[in-house]
Amino acid sequence: MNLAQQQNKLGTAVDLSKFARVSLCHQPTPIEPMKRLEAELGGPNLYIKRDDCTGLATGGNKTRKLEFLVGDAIAQNADMLVTQGAIQSNHVRQTAAAACKVGMKCHALLERRVPGQPDSYEETGNVLLDKLFGTSIEFRPSGLDMNAEAEAVVEKLRAEGHRPYFIPGGGSNAIGALGYVSCALEIALQEEETGIHFDWLVMGTGSTGTQAGLVAGFQSSGRDLPVMGISVRQPHDRQVGAVHKLVNSTLDVLGHSAIPASKIHVDDGYVGEGYGITADSTLEAISMTALHEGVLLDPVYSAKGMAGLIGLIRQGFFKPTDNVLFLHTGGSTALFAYEDTLLNYQK
Ligand SMILES: *Cc1c(COP(=O)(O)O)cnc(C)c1O
Repeated sequence: MNLAQQQNKLGTAVDLSKFARVSLCHQPTPIEPMKRLEAELGGPNLYIKRDDCTGLATGGNKTRKLEFLVGDAIAQNADMLVTQGAIQSNHVRQTAAAACKVGMKCHALLERRVPGQPDSYEETGNVLLDKLFGTSIEFRPSGLDMNAEAEAVVEKLRAEGHRPYFIPGGGSNAIGALGYVSCALEIALQEEETGIHFDWLVMGTGSTGTQAGLVAGFQSSGRDLPVMGISVRQPHDRQVGAVHKLVNSTLDVLGHSAIPASKIHVDDGYVGEGYGITADSTLEAISMTALHEGVLLDPVYSAKGMAGLIGLIRQGFFKPTDNVLFLHTGGSTALFAYEDTLLNYQK
């Protein structure tokens, strides 16, 4: 099938044009080989999809979701985006930048989710950029239902006369996931263009919208590329359940039928002690990818995803001839909040 035919086929199977959308993202993002990392690990064929280069305020995966979420906010005549995340949330930083780009205000609730961090953790990295974008911030202790906290703030803001639009943590609902349906179609087209067909896609999975959008996109377009989510927080069964639920609500929004949970792949072997806490494998992944590819990962998400890829290769999970695509979801801004940890790591 040639490219035009492929484009047609994907376009008929999945019509994203009926959804409100704003343009925020550099796309398509490149797919590049990782030859030196591949040689270091002894294969398989490794590629990286550079969603760290989506372009908005140092980039990352949330920008694709925000194209649809902010589109919906504008359609609903909102004047303010309200969202929540952990202190070093990349999602909050990208939402703050998106608000500036479309001329809205942004209000964020930041959860003190990661224990034992220096004071600078609440000042540098993503928090510094949130402030640069003029976001108003409220802090919360860990362990609350943060989406419920944010919805209560939305009600308060509405009563004060604002027109807030609520974006859940990570932008992970069926509207946000459309950003990764779009990315799945983009990858399928890049496969046609380059003639390189992937056997697996590997990525870090957290609030689930990225994995769910990819799975829904591959499923509905008929390109059934398996996606391995490396959990950054939750144990296997809970993460599979959460991804599966969002895959099916996204497929529903697209007018496609539900799929069974057996289609969702998650590995929870690289979480370490918990969300935002680096394990040795996390630091090894940051170091290896920097030294062999000149690519910056982040300590919370993409390095746990890469640790998963490295671990799966060492376990012999892939065939030597497999083409494996790592999705770089961004986040390197958070490196600066982990200065002490990174400086203390000796490889
Ligand atoms: C949010 C985030 C993820 C995880 O994506 P989800 O859609 O929340 O699962 C991965 N990497 C980075 C850098 C992120 O900021």
